[in-house]
Amino acid sequence: MSLMPIPPVMDDDADASSRPTPILAVPIPEAARQPLVLWVENLSVSFDGFKALDDVTLTLDRGELRCLIGPNGAGKTTLMDCITGKTRPDSGQVFLDSRLTDLTKLSECRIAELGIGRKFQRPTVFQGHTVYENCELALKGKKGVFRTLFARLSGAERKRIDEILELIGLAEHAGRQAGLLAHGQKQWLEIGMLLAQDPKVLLVDEPVAGMTHAEMERTADLLKSLAGKHTIVVVEHDMEFVRSIARRVTVLHEGKVLADGPMAQIQKNPRVVEVYLGE
Ligand code: ADP
Ligand code: MG
Repeated sequence: MSLMPIPPVMDDDADASSRPTPILAVPIPEAARQPLVLWVENLSVSFDGFKALDDVTLTLDRGELRCLIGPNGAGKTTLMDCITGKTRPDSGQVFLDSRLTDLTKLSECRIAELGIGRKFQRPTVFQGHTVYENCELALKGKKGVFRTLFARLSGAERKRIDEILELIGLAEHAGRQAGLLAHGQKQWLEIGMLLAQDPKVLLVDEPVAGMTHAEMERTADLLKSLAGKHTIVVVEHDMEFVRSIARRVTVLHEGKVLADGPMAQIQKNPRVVEVYLGE
């Protein structure tokens, strides 16, 4: 569907300056919309009069890996809560992929179905099931419990699980009980389970908290390898980690976007250094 600007009426006799200005059928032309996958517009939320988010606007390009940083209490989690429908904003809108539906009016469940996956800080894998079964449940979870319990995997589904296990580095552990995995491996499994649901946007909250250095490096490689195919937002405190994966960074402070740009620029931004990086 491509909505074109309505051309002005051409009239040979008319003076060019008196021609009507072309009216755009949609606020943002198709060409400009294409690279974007998520829009957050003028989002504000208050808790008992305290503004946790204050007129936050940001957009994500398709396939980008964005880091969201900022001091404690800056509003990072609240922003994720609004995007995923856990918290209703007081004002503002969120759009995914097409500008047809405002996500802030939908349920958490519906938003997840539309393609926003979220990984919380603590891994929530099914401990008693194998790594493979965890992926299987995640993949089929889309189709409801009845199918999940009784359906056999199709060839395409098996192929997808194999691809994901390879990607998250757990192919050799496919038959292992998830509860027996190391902390880092559980985090990767959970990322894999989210990928099985093929989200358009993946929100990842503090993925390296509690990880060893080696696990952090593998996580950086994993997230970087996902970029391009997936759009990912990473909230993270560990600046060494952020530097190792970051391209574009958004800094939140007191509920507002303080800065947004390439990591190299953000690190030199005096305001950012003052409120966050100088700590
Ligand atoms: P961050 O994730 O950047 O550390 P949060 O989004 O968790 O920040 O919090 C932003 C501010 O909003 C904090 O001051 C926090 O105390 C407050 N806040 C967050 N959620 C609630 C809530 N449900 N009720 C009251 N205050 C909240
Ligand atoms: Mg938080």
